[in-house]
Amino acid sequence: MSSTQPYTDLGSWIARRAAISPDRPAITFGDDTQTFGALSHRIDCLAAQLREGGVAVGDRVGYLGPNHPAFLVTMFGCARAGAVFVPLNFRLTGAELAYIIGDAGIGTLIVDASLTPGVDAVRDELAVTRWIAVGTVDGWESFDAVASASEPITDPAAPEPSDVGLIMYTSGTTGRPKGAMLTHGNMFWNNVNALLSLDVTSTDISLVCAPLFHIGGLNVTTLVTLQKGGQIVLMPAFDPVQALKLIADKHITTMFGVPAMYLFMSQVPDFETTDVSSIRYLVCGGAPVPEPLMRRYGARGIPFAQGYGLTETAPLALVMSTDESERKIGAAGNKVVPLSDVRLVDADYNEVPVGEPGEICVRGPQVMAGYWRNEAATRAVIDDGGWFHTGDIGTADADGYVFVVDRVKDMVITGGENVYPAEVESVLYSHPAVAEVAVLGTPHEKWGEAVTAVVALKPDATLTLDELREHAKDRLAGYKLPLRLEFVDALPRNPSGKVLKFQLRDALAE
Ligand code: AMP
Repeated sequence: MSSTQPYTDLGSWIARRAAISPDRPAITFGDDTQTFGALSHRIDCLAAQLREGGVAVGDRVGYLGPNHPAFLVTMFGCARAGAVFVPLNFRLTGAELAYIIGDAGIGTLIVDASLTPGVDAVRDELAVTRWIAVGTVDGWESFDAVASASEPITDPAAPEPSDVGLIMYTSGTTGRPKGAMLTHGNMFWNNVNALLSLDVTSTDISLVCAPLFHIGGLNVTTLVTLQKGGQIVLMPAFDPVQALKLIADKHITTMFGVPAMYLFMSQVPDFETTDVSSIRYLVCGGAPVPEPLMRRYGARGIPFAQGYGLTETAPLALVMSTDESERKIGAAGNKVVPLSDVRLVDADYNEVPVGEPGEICVRGPQVMAGYWRNEAATRAVIDDGGWFHTGDIGTADADGYVFVVDRVKDMVITGGENVYPAEVESVLYSHPAVAEVAVLGTPHEKWGEAVTAVVALKPDATLTLDELREHAKDRLAGYKLPLRLEFVDALPRNPSGKVLKFQLRDALAE
């Protein structure tokens, strides 16, 4: 591809940026900052080593670890070598990891030193041939030694847009994880969509505290900022106190997070006094931002941009800008990202009228190639017209704002009425005693399912079912009011912050 053509394979992103601005800071991690030039050099050295180690075009290389520069060096290095990068969720257990590593057919595995004991415990079950640790571990090659053992690659691979660059296992809030195959074209077009939809500049400093192994942490502000020539500040894992401190110390201008992260940051006692003046806007995805949170940040002069999408859509499909006049609380977005189409359909694939709920479907160059070695699962979500069926139920208003009302699977059917938990949650959230709430259906003799609220209370607060129903009764139809109230200390969440409703369902069934 000549440099005049717009498409850039993932492996060339940093190389191109390094050719333009080699001395600009790219990644800060702890006290270390790497420039684009240094980063590009390291990526190309690792790529050469992967190739020398026998990694061929299309081979899978896994990475398991908290956020670290080595994650990004490996991802770009794989692309330079023509390999497929498979990021792994570091909260998974040995057995879960063994399943994914086997399913993906990972031959070279790079693991953070803190996690090698867990991998060693299942080592006999794995068909991995090269073991590399980020850090120093007996029986493992050292990432630093590997990445500095060769001269930079001189003939990098040149993947086509349709070639798979990453396999990302979806977060698995339901069922067994499946590997979404994201092509170099998917990555490129998501980046273009993000650049056209969010206000990203080369002077941005983006805090990266959402996990990089998740599409939101990787592809919403992180790679976009880097490609624009901005800087990222990596945190190994999310910590609300540290995140606020870094915002002030490093003059962070933006970050990506899920509502739970922003909620926890807003609950830090220093939230009101931390210097957050450098922040231009925050990007939120994964779930709607609850209204009280929007107000809390708004009071500190911080607007939210929102994105809606999935791993399978790399991820952006819908966005909502930070512009106050354009924002509607609770909406996932009002703008379909460029070169894409979004529609809401009923069970017969017919578009639903304004205001009626339908399954959100997405078509565009950012939609994954399919699930890795799972043709049946791919066919179940991508139809003959190329529409990806998200499994999310949404409604659109007359102005084109789409509201995600629920997951197809999470809908509660009570007395024949459909109840979308997200709608009920957003109302219950505003009760002063509620710190966190999840709504789900539990079996009920009379109604089939009972709308059930699982609440984590604020410190020293108390709450009864009647009080909760009284609070919500003016804003929700009677059949949507909770029939059952249960308490937990904290909601179980997956590493990207999503509530694990199936765990709550199992616990309540007992
Ligand atoms: P994942 O593939 O792990 O990124 O999960 C994608 C899911 O997150 C989607 O199918 C939605 O259910 C949910 N989601 C993402 N963004 C939003 C949003 N802005 N509003 C509501 N739900 C969202």
